[in-house]
Amino acid sequence: MTADNAASGTVRPRDDIALMVGYHSPQLDVAVRLNTNESPLPPPPAFAEAVAAAARSVAWNRYPDRSARELRSRIAARHRVDPDRVFAANGSNEVLQCLLLAYGGAGRSAATFEPTYALHSHLARVTGTSVVEGARGDDFTLDPETAGALIATARPSVTFLCSPNNPSGTVASRAVVGSLLDSVRSAGGLLCVDEAYAEFAPHSALELVDDRTPLAVTRTYSKTWAMAGARLGYLIGPPWLVAELDKVALPYHLDALKQAVGIAALDFVDDMQARVDAIVAERTRLTDRLCELAVDVWPSGANFVLFRPRHRDGAEVWQQLVDRSVLVRNCASWPRLAGCLRVTVGTPAENDKCLDALAEILA
Ligand code: PMP
Repeated sequence: MTADNAASGTVRPRDDIALMVGYHSPQLDVAVRLNTNESPLPPPPAFAEAVAAAARSVAWNRYPDRSARELRSRIAARHRVDPDRVFAANGSNEVLQCLLLAYGGAGRSAATFEPTYALHSHLARVTGTSVVEGARGDDFTLDPETAGALIATARPSVTFLCSPNNPSGTVASRAVVGSLLDSVRSAGGLLCVDEAYAEFAPHSALELVDDRTPLAVTRTYSKTWAMAGARLGYLIGPPWLVAELDKVALPYHLDALKQAVGIAALDFVDDMQARVDAIVAERTRLTDRLCELAVDVWPSGANFVLFRPRHRDGAEVWQQLVDRSVLVRNCASWPRLAGCLRVTVGTPAENDKCLDALAEILA
């Protein structure tokens, strides 16, 4: 036994943390990586030049602007809201963590509707918030009455709605969002709509954010802005909620270069929109071609598509894709998704490689 192992017997983490399994998505060395919903295309070269210029002008010896005022103002301008409605952090994961630090915790609960983004329940547990699990229907839509009954009984402090939902791609209708808002309002809680994939979807809950509504909408630079490497995300919500998040975020959590990078990206909206349009077109083509194979496919409003081989074991198909240097996400660890695989929309060439490999495996 090493000294480290010996110490681990006596120095114990929290009991609940010791029992937890960390969040995993394998990163394998393959030719076609379609497993983490990244953008297949990088931002334009002019963006990299803007980042280089920003790096030259950062006051490296100084702490950054703690409240990231310019970044928040630019994000606010993009969404036509006041800057005091914007909170930014290191990826929307950190935004979600701050939300739970401020509104979850011991004696409080968070509701999720499974299967959904695993970090909602994971971050709830890490922050000592108990988890109330609701369920989506067989087609992964949400029945507002069942969801409302759960919220009325459990009275969660935070209710998460992922739309488009990861991993199913399901977009919640405006009626469902409105109904959930009514439910959380009556129960004295908050609704957090996780819109990591919103730009790929037909509508957003952003228009419902106002000072009196217990609603927060989270967004990320990781997908549509093709900036997963930068780790930047944000939330739009009422100012009273943003003020609480500012209390729990670590001082200077957004470094100066990251703030500059987030501002620079917003000068390239047209490039972003062109990438999004291309991905949405490819999503239609990918979905159509998947429908010609022996797989069940769910309609998606995101940059990925969920499918399940009808006559073959999902894990076996996943491995055979890896053997052909194509990596998709094996969804077996999600509740109710045994045998399901999720493929991120890549470039046309990447999608063709994936589809051809799949056709060969399923033949
Ligand atoms: N929400 C959802 C639904 C996601 O799928 C992801 C990324 N997989 C995130 C949030 C986190 O994104 P990031 O931390 O990169 O902003």
